[in-house]
Amino acid sequence: MHETFSFDFTELKANGINRIGEFNPYVTLACDLRCSYCYMFDFLTKANDVVHVMPTKWFVSMMDHICEEGGGLDRMTFLGGEPTLHPDITTMMNEAAQRPIKERRMTTNGMGLHNLNLDKVSPDALDHVSVSIDGTTAESNDVTRAKNSFKRIIETIGLYRQAGFKVSVNYTVTNRNIANLNETVPFFHAMGVSIINLHRASLDGNAYRNPDIIIDAVAWIEARAKLVEFLKTNGSTYPGLTVRIPYIFMTDSEVLETRYAPIQERNYHSPDGGHRLIVFPATSIGKGLCYMSSDVIGHPNAELGRIDENGRFRWNSHDNNELIAFSRHKLANVSSLIKNQTQEVNPGEGLVRVSHSFKLTLRTAQQDAAE
Ligand code: SF4
Repeated sequence: MHETFSFDFTELKANGINRIGEFNPYVTLACDLRCSYCYMFDFLTKANDVVHVMPTKWFVSMMDHICEEGGGLDRMTFLGGEPTLHPDITTMMNEAAQRPIKERRMTTNGMGLHNLNLDKVSPDALDHVSVSIDGTTAESNDVTRAKNSFKRIIETIGLYRQAGFKVSVNYTVTNRNIANLNETVPFFHAMGVSIINLHRASLDGNAYRNPDIIIDAVAWIEARAKLVEFLKTNGSTYPGLTVRIPYIFMTDSEVLETRYAPIQERNYHSPDGGHRLIVFPATSIGKGLCYMSSDVIGHPNAELGRIDENGRFRWNSHDNNELIAFSRHKLANVSSLIKNQTQEVNPGEGLVRVSHSFKLTLRTAQQDAAE
């Protein structure tokens, strides 16, 4: 591996991506869980793997390049695998804290702090630690994550809170926990969590082996409506909480009302304009794969391109490249088409499938807003 890198995104720009507003480095492919719906499943390596990681200097050099080219970043999220299994995660986090990045986050599985040394990182280094948890009881959580994981995740949330970090939770909704969705509000509010970020498990990665956990369109819309109603009626009891609920399926009139635009057309997480760039480690498994949306991760030839270990980005000109596919089919969610998931493309009931990142944001005691 070379020690100096010269990141070159010329081929990204040549294909219309002029500014990266959101950068999501998958800093390691190591993970100590194997969740039932994990979209990264086929990329994951063992918890002690130190090969399929992003070298710290490579990461810092890429982050600097993106910040310089784009006048800073609007958002960056450390992802994996499990990012805290990266041997150098504390340094990486401190380096990111010194860059012009408006919002910094990390998504962790909460199975412990692993290599993250909370004594050596300021809580200001992250705007949020997003801890993944799938239930309000061991029974509802452990069925999709791992036996005895609930207890460890709750302990880890406590450690972050004690150290002064703001904690949000990533809560993946499946057929195993949808019945108790409203219970998440009092439960996580009592734990000092500030954001509940909901996801609907999608048919990707390990979910292909567990398709019965996926919630159908009608059940999803019913649960979503009940949660919205619950928050409108009881929200004032839980002040200071933000709940982000993916629409997933919308009627035509909702598409118009919310001014929904597909992620390939507009990066709605990037208020100053720009696109999202997801980057994998440039190792034999990660291959430096780059995506715009996590919806298509792992699908053959769906990547925007790849970055080699020297930092050069090469565009993928295959028809499955999500931007090329989108230029042919201006769909609300081209990802389902690329993946040949006809039930998602045409859910029936007059519904349109939209990107899983498009969410309704409800803030207790504040006005509702879609983003
Ligand atoms: S969902 Fe996250 S925590 Fe679970 S196996 Fe995948 S990478 Fe690991």
